[in-house]
Amino acid sequence: MIMRYEGPIYRPPSEAGSLLIQATVGCPHNRCTFCMVYKNGPRFKIRPVHEIKEDILQAARIYGQTVRTLFFPAGNSIAMKTDELCVICLFAKEIFPHLKRITVYGSSQYIHKKGLEELKRLAEAGLSRIHVGLESGDDIILKRIKKGTDSAQQVEAGRWVMEAGIELSIYVIMGIGSHERSAIHAKKTAEVLNKIAPDFIRLRTFVPKVNTPLLQEVQDGTFTMLSPHEILNETAALIDQINITSYLTSDHYTNYINLEGKLPEEKERLLRKIDAALKADESSFRSFFIGTA
Ligand code: SF4
Repeated sequence: MIMRYEGPIYRPPSEAGSLLIQATVGCPHNRCTFCMVYKNGPRFKIRPVHEIKEDILQAARIYGQTVRTLFFPAGNSIAMKTDELCVICLFAKEIFPHLKRITVYGSSQYIHKKGLEELKRLAEAGLSRIHVGLESGDDIILKRIKKGTDSAQQVEAGRWVMEAGIELSIYVIMGIGSHERSAIHAKKTAEVLNKIAPDFIRLRTFVPKVNTPLLQEVQDGTFTMLSPHEILNETAALIDQINITSYLTSDHYTNYINLEGKLPEEKERLLRKIDAALKADESSFRSFFIGTA
């Protein structure tokens, strides 16, 4: 028997070296207008615990005790029942005694449904990191992109994750507010991040993806893409307004420049790097493309 995977399997770049054991299939929300990942894939479902355990055992036969980090795809594995997620975390720790990190993707709406006490139970069972797509701190943008949550819920969910002792990695999409809301996107997103103080802030630049409503908006002219300089200015405004301790990284192919550093210590260096990039002609940055993955 080999390990089984169904539908698209995505993982954060930081999980490149991790064992991937599928816990859920698809995304229970599946409505974000910028996201193509699960749109044409199978409907959301939670895999039976005995199957997940079988895959963990199979991975142990292949990799022995070498597994140090484990990621449970797919799009929102935090939406599993807390008891079941605890069971598979505990089982994985038993089978892989050197396991240092167990990670899932989780949207704020599903984290919020769990509440602080269930998050604490998950932390005790070994869940150690959650990747959350904040995308923006602006409620108007969140509504437009159909994120299924608002800034207040994202703040509360994020704070609970931190309070439970689970590492929190938050994604922000630069340019997702279009031209018109660029400044407010930077401001409101910084405000939300300042209230949560997540361990990691990961920047992505908006790239329209095939088969998404937002690509349609770009094509019919109702959504204006930001130019490379506008994205860099928006990024500088965001970083400038962040006043918490966190680690910022732009570990993704969609970004125009690579930014990585500790906040607040390296804020000035990051801003200087953006300033220097702004001196380059716009034509020197990657060109517009439609994403297919
Ligand atoms: S961005 Fe996340 S929550 Fe939204 S549809 Fe895609 S996988 Fe689901």
